[in-house]
Amino acid sequence: MSKTLIRNGHVVGQTTATCDVLIEDGRIVAVGPALAAGNAQIIEAAGMLVAPGFVDTHRHLWQTSIRGVAADWSLVDYIRNIRLGYATAYTPEDVYIATYVGALEAIDAGITSLGDFCHIIRSPEHAEAARQALIDSGLRARLYYGFYNIPDEKPVFADHAARLAHARDFRRAFGTSTDLISMGVALTEFNLQPIERTTAEVHLARDLDLDITMHMGTLSTPDGVSRLREAGLLGPRMLHVHCNASTDAELAQIAGSGGKVSITPETEMQMGMGFPITNRALKAELRPTFGIDIVSDCSGDMFAQMRLALQTARAIDNQVVLDTGKMPVSIGLTVANAYRFATLDGAAAMGFDGLVGAIAPGLRADIILMKIEGVHHLPKTPDPIATIVLQARPGDVDTVLVDGVVRKRAGKLVNVDFAAIGCRAQTSADHLAEAARDAAAHTGATATASVYAAGVAKMTGTN
Ligand SMILES: [Zn+2]
Repeated sequence: MSKTLIRNGHVVGQTTATCDVLIEDGRIVAVGPALAAGNAQIIEAAGMLVAPGFVDTHRHLWQTSIRGVAADWSLVDYIRNIRLGYATAYTPEDVYIATYVGALEAIDAGITSLGDFCHIIRSPEHAEAARQALIDSGLRARLYYGFYNIPDEKPVFADHAARLAHARDFRRAFGTSTDLISMGVALTEFNLQPIERTTAEVHLARDLDLDITMHMGTLSTPDGVSRLREAGLLGPRMLHVHCNASTDAELAQIAGSGGKVSITPETEMQMGMGFPITNRALKAELRPTFGIDIVSDCSGDMFAQMRLALQTARAIDNQVVLDTGKMPVSIGLTVANAYRFATLDGAAAMGFDGLVGAIAPGLRADIILMKIEGVHHLPKTPDPIATIVLQARPGDVDTVLVDGVVRKRAGKLVNVDFAAIGCRAQTSADHLAEAARDAAAHTGATATASVYAAGVAKMTGTN
């Protein structure tokens, strides 16, 4: 049996000033002061905050290789340049190194669980590359298998049915939905295909006992919830991402169906999807959760998303009062709310409730230690959760355990060959940049590109 004792830390949520966490075979077995160490590996946490790892409920890890290209892009730019451009050049090696580096970036920033919306599956080898990279990273991750048609001139999958058949085969490489690496299904956007195909994707997921996620309620599919409901497909184990254009009634329908939501504040506000639904979700009795979405646009840490979401939600609430000609007297949403959205509620959205998202006996040991040092922590904030949500940075994450395994220690990722992965990531980025330059010329005539183009024209009112 492997034993680890995290000693003398300030465990967030515990009232004692210092506290220990005892881990056996990846599971938290005790939390309290002065626990007996026995022959346990000791991790000294004096002066540090000990907290559950963050849960990123929506990210496309494959876009790590094109970091920052979307810095000034709208959603329309994004569709034209990434879906119709870069995506058509991805090799399995590009998928592997992007997924691997992106997963390490998540761990480095204290994210221990992540939903990887993988819609770059141009061939079975692309899917396997993503799976292997997630395994190699050590992250707790769900690979949501996307059926999206990349606009290839010579597609490997002959048609939608061939993609479904491959997903069924691929399922055999995974166990249950609570394993460290699990499989899910990412539905194709509803404006890109007839509802019969969406129905086939949902039925396949349910037949294979897989969780489902999808881009929902953006201008491309504003009535997506209603479409799912009318087709008899709305149900539990569905993670609806964005939902900016979904109505309050549709949000209530998601809640009523047992579904969950993921909010990606930074991309939603930049790319013209609308305000994040944090406030509206709470009114509909949905628990907000957060996703980073794409590092082709923004940074890969949860700190930025927590702050953006919290302050935007506060601004929306405050504006209601301001519109009456008065100043708000108090603030509704708290840092504790935002922290819970990024941890416990995120875990529940992925079906990981009772597994991770908190530090308590019986849960798996997905734990981060944060060093509260440096001039940006002088003098110390009295509330540790306020420190994490509003003051901390990814560089403050000193130690990360995923499933009890130490993946970062003393500020450095463990067992990572930085020179080798740096070289592979740069080679991939260079190749993709070159390929994307003339991708539009290659893909403009494909049927899939035409479907996308029609969607863009509809969204922008230029059709
Ligand atoms: Zn997305």
